[in-house]
Amino acid sequence: MLPFKIIYRDDYYLPIGEHVFPGSKYRQVHQSLLARGIAEPGDFLAPRPAEDRDVLLVHGADWVYKLQTGNLSAREELQMEIPYSDELVEAFWLAAGGSILAGRHALEDGVGINLGGGFHHAFPDHGEGFCMINDIAIAIRRLQKDQKIERALVIDCDVHQGNGTAVIFGRKRALALASEALPSVSAPMLRGTEPGSIRKLAADGAVDVFTISLHQENNYPTWKPPSSIDVNLPDGIGDDQYLGWLDNAVSSALRQFEPQLISYVAGADPYRDDQLGGLNLSIEGLKRRDEFVFRVAKIRGIPVTVTLAGGYAQDVNDTIEIHSNTVVAAKEVFER
Ligand SMILES: [Zn+2]
Repeated sequence: MLPFKIIYRDDYYLPIGEHVFPGSKYRQVHQSLLARGIAEPGDFLAPRPAEDRDVLLVHGADWVYKLQTGNLSAREELQMEIPYSDELVEAFWLAAGGSILAGRHALEDGVGINLGGGFHHAFPDHGEGFCMINDIAIAIRRLQKDQKIERALVIDCDVHQGNGTAVIFGRKRALALASEALPSVSAPMLRGTEPGSIRKLAADGAVDVFTISLHQENNYPTWKPPSSIDVNLPDGIGDDQYLGWLDNAVSSALRQFEPQLISYVAGADPYRDDQLGGLNLSIEGLKRRDEFVFRVAKIRGIPVTVTLAGGYAQDVNDTIEIHSNTVVAAKEVFER
């Protein structure tokens, strides 16, 4: 038995047909974990869909209503880049329920893994980039509402910037800055950043959720709304450089912010053979990345909840292996 729970249901499957996003990857990761003997059936817990009131903690009533009634405009569906269906809505609600459950178990066991979710491109009022609703934010807001946590740190290691998450959790910061009538201290940093730069926002004492996004600068999304820390990586960097940037960002965050939960977005797409990524990480390097996050969490005594996020490798088996390795890394760190 693993010393933590893996949250999963077969219905995580995304019914989107032939698509660069492998909608069946969740089932394949589940099967792979069992086949490789990494996990056994008793390690898995089945989530229920998120409740609408949980989704509404993050998303506007208009957006939720449109999704539930199928009243998206053509533009809204195009922007989401996945074909709308009732079944797809159910899958996203289920993924969000899974992220909530993983968060609860993380607080009990030190780590909890959702074998799904990570939909960081969903904004309060629209979906983007294969993301309909933002399970990462929904889970954090629900745990806060239940008074299980006050402060969370998002460590987003998908190759694409976590724009939806940045906007969702940046609102409080923006309001605080506005109410203090400060000059826009961050404005000069928001303009063109040098490759390989780290951008930190001032006045983050105002936030209850601190966000780190470590991503390829020269990639979607074009407009990158500010996270608390954005690490804009140059094209093609490899394992060691990437891990150095990650260490820098996480250390900086933990010097100024004391989270009660880390929400780790374990994107598989910084991989060198990813079709939508332009970094050069190896499968082993991605596992070292996961281990680093888990070790930091364990040493600091901060529970860590995990979502999977992007993975579009030429060979889908590589994506499955990278995602499975996230569970292996957690097992190796937390079994000791
Ligand atoms: Zn991605």
